[in-house]
Amino acid sequence: MAEELEKSLNFIEQIVEKDLQEGANDGRIQTRFPPEPNGYLHIGHVKAICMDFGISDKYNGVCNLRFDDTNPVKEDTEYVDSIMHDIAWLGFRWGDVYYASDYFDKLYELALRLIKAGKAYVDEQTAEQIAQQKGTPTEPGVASPFRDRPIEENLRLFQAMQNGEIEDGKMVLRAKIDMANPNMHFRDPIMYRIITTHPHHRTGRKWNVYPMYDYAHGQSDYFEGVTHSICTLEFVVHRPLYDYFIDEMLQVSTNEDWGTLANSRPHQYEFNRLNITYTVMSKRKMLQLVKEGLVRGWDDPRMPTVCGLRRRGYTPAAIRKFIDTIGYTKVEGMIDYTWLENAIREDQKEKAPRVCAIFDPVKLVLTNHNGEKETFCAENIDGHPELGTREMLFSNELYIERGDFQEEGSKDFFRLSPGGREVRLKNAYIIQATGCEKDADGNITTVYATYDPESKSGTEGGNRKTKSTINWVECTSAIDAEARLYDRLFACENPSAEEGDFRDLLNPDSLKIINCKVEGALRAELHDTVYNEGIAQVNHYQFLKQGYFVVDPDTTAEHLVFNRTASLKDNWKK
Ligand code: ATP
Ligand code: MG
Repeated sequence: MAEELEKSLNFIEQIVEKDLQEGANDGRIQTRFPPEPNGYLHIGHVKAICMDFGISDKYNGVCNLRFDDTNPVKEDTEYVDSIMHDIAWLGFRWGDVYYASDYFDKLYELALRLIKAGKAYVDEQTAEQIAQQKGTPTEPGVASPFRDRPIEENLRLFQAMQNGEIEDGKMVLRAKIDMANPNMHFRDPIMYRIITTHPHHRTGRKWNVYPMYDYAHGQSDYFEGVTHSICTLEFVVHRPLYDYFIDEMLQVSTNEDWGTLANSRPHQYEFNRLNITYTVMSKRKMLQLVKEGLVRGWDDPRMPTVCGLRRRGYTPAAIRKFIDTIGYTKVEGMIDYTWLENAIREDQKEKAPRVCAIFDPVKLVLTNHNGEKETFCAENIDGHPELGTREMLFSNELYIERGDFQEEGSKDFFRLSPGGREVRLKNAYIIQATGCEKDADGNITTVYATYDPESKSGTEGGNRKTKSTINWVECTSAIDAEARLYDRLFACENPSAEEGDFRDLLNPDSLKIINCKVEGALRAELHDTVYNEGIAQVNHYQFLKQGYFVVDPDTTAEHLVFNRTASLKDNWKK
């Protein structure tokens, strides 16, 4: 039993349970989700969100939101707002909202103390020189000529950096650790750099020096009382530095100095990043696609962003189920895009009302029907009358798919073709094709057929079997709609691993727009939610045989737009 329980826990949950059993951190569980507000959240972030919030939810802890806003050049409140909106949409609730910039005063004070303790120095070399001196994992680095300058001089220069007296790039503050350490991150990492070109989105022009990630992150976790600082595997090599800075802080200060809880110290744990085939998972690259107009925006339905997936028709439940299915390990890997699609298919299978939409319409005329309108009752989801029904208008002129008729026919074509084969119009009558009419170019413009009035679905005659059933919409009530059909954003499986420019690897056929005819019943249904309330409510549908669709916000009273979320089955071919 105990063993079974353990198996169902991921490895981070196992650590948390052990800590709880041992009474670590006085039994408190506190996590944080620490996005940099320099772009919109993507599905990779959702994996981290589900972990950070999942742990706090499961163990009665708290997960705070902390914006890692230490680089004013790239950050903006637009991103802060979108990140909060997306997390809430996914269904998670944070405790408090913090910003790394909340700690700029404390971090600056700590830096002064570390300088006074001889643990940090101002380096006047260029970034290139510093990089050249780093050495390799097997060769020690070279010490900066400024490494041993007097403490007083370091203090004066660091203050001059903050006072705006030094140009950007002319000086940095470095931790004085060990230029020969086998872990390259210990070779006097940069703690502060000068940025005067951009105001900070929260602190304005107050600061001219900004802390680097390695110095800011662990201390911020510490100030807040985070117990489990969970991140991705690329930070494994940073972990000793994370611990180092906290140790050094404790050497030069007490908890009272920072208003921090006693008996509490954060520890970092790492899990594997999410990578998905046929897409990129980097804000920098996504920003480039957006800025250069290679996609329609952050919320382009082809983008792996949360807002893109939402517009594509993904639900929070489907996204969270996907994350749950892939799980957490300590090995990097690549997840096939079809897993994501399967999650939304699974989610919508028994929820999305079925609707007829004809993508390549040709007119069908029933020559023995008197043209009076009839209404049929169709189940929203076949076999589930409890999930509601809708009315379908029927008459003598219908649209059917062009591909459902063949003039010549053949022995293995089971749909309409003159020559006697019976075909059922879904939810309606059995018909037999009698012929067709063509334009001057030989394109079929009208298909003719007769119907059997005794064969109506739901009546006794409706039980008669046919080899195939085809979809239709009644002509006078049909609505014209735009359907946006999406394919993979990139043409190759792992664009990040290829040489050359990733933009050259975009799939040129990732968006296909078609005009289709959807059944008239949708008009009334969409009237309130789309036309009157400006798409207040998301409408998901399954277009029979075509896939799962969602109403796009571009929709207006005159022009309906649908996005295909996913096809019904995986029909992707490499
Ligand atoms: P990007 O490279 O896309 O800019 P990032 O890691 O710089 O991503 P942050 O805003 O710093 O973005 O990330 C916030 C949190 O989300 C971090 O804890 C990070 O580990 C996590 N995260 C980012 N990308 C992924 C991913 N692909 N899979 C899992 N977690 C991720
Ligand atoms: Mg980052």
